[in-house]
Amino acid sequence: YFPLFLNVTNRKCLVVGGGTLAAEKARLLLDFGALVTILCPRIGEEIWPLEENYVSCSVENRNFQARDLNGIALVISATGNIEVDSMIASAAQTASVPVNVVDNKKLSTFSVAAIVDRGSIQIAVSSGGKSPSLVARLKDELEVLLPQNLGVLADLASKMRPAVKKILPKIESRRKFWRKFFEGDNAQTYLLSNQGVEPKEVKSLVQRITGSGSFPPSVSIVGSGPGDPDLLTVKALRKIQEADVLVYDRLVGVEILKRARKESKKIFVGKSKGQHTCGQAEINDILLQEALPGRNVVRLKGGDPFVFGRGGEERAFLMQHGIEVEIVSGITAVLGCGAASGIPMTHRNISQAVTFITGHGDGDLSVDWKALAQLGHTLVIYMGIGAAHGIAANLISNGMPSRTPVAVVENGTTPDEKLVVGKLETLSLLISESNITPPAIIIVGDVVDQARLEVIRLADKARASGMGQNEDVNKEAKISEAVA
Ligand code: SAH
Repeated sequence: YFPLFLNVTNRKCLVVGGGTLAAEKARLLLDFGALVTILCPRIGEEIWPLEENYVSCSVENRNFQARDLNGIALVISATGNIEVDSMIASAAQTASVPVNVVDNKKLSTFSVAAIVDRGSIQIAVSSGGKSPSLVARLKDELEVLLPQNLGVLADLASKMRPAVKKILPKIESRRKFWRKFFEGDNAQTYLLSNQGVEPKEVKSLVQRITGSGSFPPSVSIVGSGPGDPDLLTVKALRKIQEADVLVYDRLVGVEILKRARKESKKIFVGKSKGQHTCGQAEINDILLQEALPGRNVVRLKGGDPFVFGRGGEERAFLMQHGIEVEIVSGITAVLGCGAASGIPMTHRNISQAVTFITGHGDGDLSVDWKALAQLGHTLVIYMGIGAAHGIAANLISNGMPSRTPVAVVENGTTPDEKLVVGKLETLSLLISESNITPPAIIIVGDVVDQARLEVIRLADKARASGMGQNEDVNKEAKISEAVA
């Protein structure tokens, strides 16, 4: 179903049927200003009050005829009789009149949405007939969430629009202005004081909100977390939804991109080892060119932009070119992976600190292997899959016990998550035998043993709940396989 909003004010609409459903639909149309004729040979008691209460309602005590469709904007059939409903639906289709047969998707050419009514703001919710109860629930949630005076806000904005357009001729600047206007205290202040905004006040309001009267170009460098869209921060989600342009990496999944506006421009600049789709200089240039005209640019990166994300370089480059930069942190991969697999980063009496390193560089890293081998706490290796053999060898030859527990988590927090557990001495074998491919994180240290406790906890839980085929049980299977 293509959602649209139809003006039915003073247009003729037909409702066929005399029961509760017919009365409900007729009342809805009447409330939206339609001229409604209700047809039925047997009129129920809920219909008559409509004719009494609405001058625009007329009730006719007779059967439907095809000529009743003349000049009609839409027809709703709620006769409860499938033959009559079918006849009305086919007559309506022949006459090209939109028809809805209540609770009958096949016979309908449009559906009636559940409505959250806030005056000028109307929100319609539909599942295309698939789950009316889910729709009802969403409607209830929206009713609670949305302030009653939303419509007044739209009316206020409508009055201000011509003046704002004159002051800010560029559409990008206007978008930013409105975003700030609605998100800040401004809108609420005007609403609460009930004063509205006079056109001559708009100029000072715009100046107050925008500072100089226009917005400097800016880029937000946003961390999108380890993969699960529910692990986006509230701020990251808002930035994604507001973006005109999204410049995103390979690690940013489709589920996260779906949160963006459909009409936003999405530019993929993914890099993967050995296969450079886009060099860093090129990415910098794209960011600059997109930001300069004043678009709302979001640079979206996996995890946290300041953890092995080159966020610092992009920030420096943009600032050198006069672009304002905001960094929005995200949950870095290993924190998501640890939480998902029951491996804490630190643990009382086991590990008092945690070190993150990158394994990028084929084992030939400029790191102090001796110091790393002697840490005595959790060591996390990003981008270490290709170099795992060299990393393990360096750690062991510099004194880390070869039986130190290791875990490898691939695609942590996503539906493709994989966890394997073993010992440092056989790390590369573990990786190759379990077909681990990037993106994956290596966790080295005694904290890895905590994953076993996770197995026991999940097994107990599954037993207690009678072993349903739930997510936890699947996860338990995955983890026990790993621990074995
Ligand atoms: N800025 C990112 C890291 C980018 S480097 C962050 O803070 O997480 C890319 C590396 O991150 C990958 O090679 C892998 O080691 C790790 N990584 C990212 N997402 C991951 C995931 N869902 N599961 C496991 N490792 C992941």
